[in-house]
Amino acid sequence: MAGILSAIKLTDAGITDFTVYEKADRVGGTWRENTYPGLACDVPSHLYSYSFALSSEWSHRFAPGPEIRAYFERVAEEYGVTQRVRFGDAVTRCQFSDGQWHLTTAAGHHDTVDVVIAATGVLHHPNYPDIEGIDSFAGSAFHSSRWDHDVALDGARVGVIGTGSTAVQIVTAIVDRVAELALFQRTAQWILPQDNPAYTDDETATFRHHPERLADLHQRLSDMFDVFSNAVIDSDSAELAMIESACLENLEHNVHDPELRERLQPDYRAACKRLILSPDFYAAIQRPNAALVTNPIERVEPGGVRTADGQLHELDVLVVATGFKADAFMRPMDIVGRGGVTLDEAWDPRPEAYLSISMPDFPNFFMLNGPNGPVGNFSLIEVAELQFGYILQLLDRLRTGECREISVTRDALAAFEQDREQAAHRTVWVTGCRSWYLDDRGLPAVWPWPFTQYRDAMKAPDPTAYSFL
Ligand code: NAP
Repeated sequence: MAGILSAIKLTDAGITDFTVYEKADRVGGTWRENTYPGLACDVPSHLYSYSFALSSEWSHRFAPGPEIRAYFERVAEEYGVTQRVRFGDAVTRCQFSDGQWHLTTAAGHHDTVDVVIAATGVLHHPNYPDIEGIDSFAGSAFHSSRWDHDVALDGARVGVIGTGSTAVQIVTAIVDRVAELALFQRTAQWILPQDNPAYTDDETATFRHHPERLADLHQRLSDMFDVFSNAVIDSDSAELAMIESACLENLEHNVHDPELRERLQPDYRAACKRLILSPDFYAAIQRPNAALVTNPIERVEPGGVRTADGQLHELDVLVVATGFKADAFMRPMDIVGRGGVTLDEAWDPRPEAYLSISMPDFPNFFMLNGPNGPVGNFSLIEVAELQFGYILQLLDRLRTGECREISVTRDALAAFEQDREQAAHRTVWVTGCRSWYLDDRGLPAVWPWPFTQYRDAMKAPDPTAYSFL
């Protein structure tokens, strides 16, 4: 998403001497990697679109994953991006020396460039659970982002480990196809019962013939997300209380067996973990062939999953929906900045970046959707567009010859991080739950202020925060 955006925006700005590096053989990022049944985006599609390439054709409010992937492929084609991509070769090293970045790829290709824009995504490396015996499983086992479509689900006994957005989408999509479904829940989740209506032919025709309505809808959805983002950064807010009661009502009205209801009821605040949107998860888990397993997993055996109560849950297929290594930004690339500083050194003990874009010692190196930015509750496309507008202003200084090297100062980064930590304490994310938002200190590695504040910060770089050599 962010790589395609970069290519389009660079071209628009008259910068045509660029290459997009892509280790896979087609565009699509997360929408290429994730192909599991039920895959969708929980940001409405009319918001999860480039602002300059709105689509009238979305089938649903939350379009399914393949439609989203097709959207990115189409935009990449229409804007001439695809032919600018060097497919099938991973960048393994970026080293800054003599004022330039020297890139090496897995195939041994070398390139020297003035500027690097890292658009490598956030949730990319699977988090495989460390469960005893998992390799001994005799059936088919795979991570949700490595779905094996050769494995038959119909009539199979399927186990799903994890209860995040991914697992919830998978369970809901497959429960009526499989013989038995066991969902292994370590932590219960709050579920907001957001429905997902299809657009009617009339609505689609209106969008097609009135592009201004599409733009208006995009704006209205963006404003709505601002309300949500304000709710989660203030754990005392009235909006958050409303979200909590909607989740509780969903649980109370839609889960009938009090014992099951109790096991599905989280013991932490709604939206502390990333909120899950699903109109039908509770119905799915109450199907006669579905079982919610809350006894802790003890080990995996050839025949299935053994829980702490001694029961063997016999399975043919085991889906590991255990999320991603959220702090693995840009790795395993070796990134070596000014003076030989490596990214691993700069990010010991944890990733940091000024406004999630810039790092000291890494001149002319900019990240899209880098660490500690607005993730989780916004359209990452809007975030990347804002970031790109900001980066472009820095690139202008290089283009006009005003300077040759731009990097954020250590002081600016330290001040930013200090403010960010302080603000993080007011958010719902620190109210007592485990989630991928939290860093090694238990602080959320995300933007803890209103989104409008990020928009303001992205209007123009603060020249006092940067060193221009
Ligand atoms: P996730 O939210 O990190 O959830 C991982 C799940 O696996 C959790 O339930 C976790 O339990 C469980 N787990 C991890 N290790 C385990 C272990 N060793 N034993 C048992 N359970 C274990 O991952 P995800 O569902 O893939 O979602 C990741 C993010 O991707 C989401 O938060 C969202 O940002 C994005 N996403 C978005 C959509 C969308 O519609 N836009 C869809 C899918 C994913 P605990 O809760 O106990 O840690």
